[in-house]
Amino acid sequence: MKCKVENCENKIFAKDYCMAHYNRLRRHNSIEKLKAGRKRDLKRQAALSFFPELSERTLQKFWNYIKICDTLDIDEVKIIKNNTRPNGSLSISRLENIAKSMFATRIISEAKNKDI
Ligand SMILES: [Zn+2]
Repeated sequence: MKCKVENCENKIFAKDYCMAHYNRLRRHNSIEKLKAGRKRDLKRQAALSFFPELSERTLQKFWNYIKICDTLDIDEVKIIKNNTRPNGSLSISRLENIAKSMFATRIISEAKNKDI
């Protein structure tokens, strides 16, 4: 069974939608992608204000993390909460690695769904 969105070839994940469309509906009540540009500008500003002490390199890692979460329609805040240590510190490298592995997993599962 295919996702009920027109021209979407992905397999059903829940309620007749594929994972990407289901997550979008759940998160912002629409199957349309948010305008990525504006949303990302705001997130970049927020990231910079949250972590003013970060090096440019670490900030870039954090930014990679945000971009991957956006692409996969994953809740980036939840992952941050789940990976913050009891003392409040957070490994940005770890976030980036988690995002990269989720990205790889998604690509592999989508390739399987399309029987490539
Ligand atoms: Zn779909």
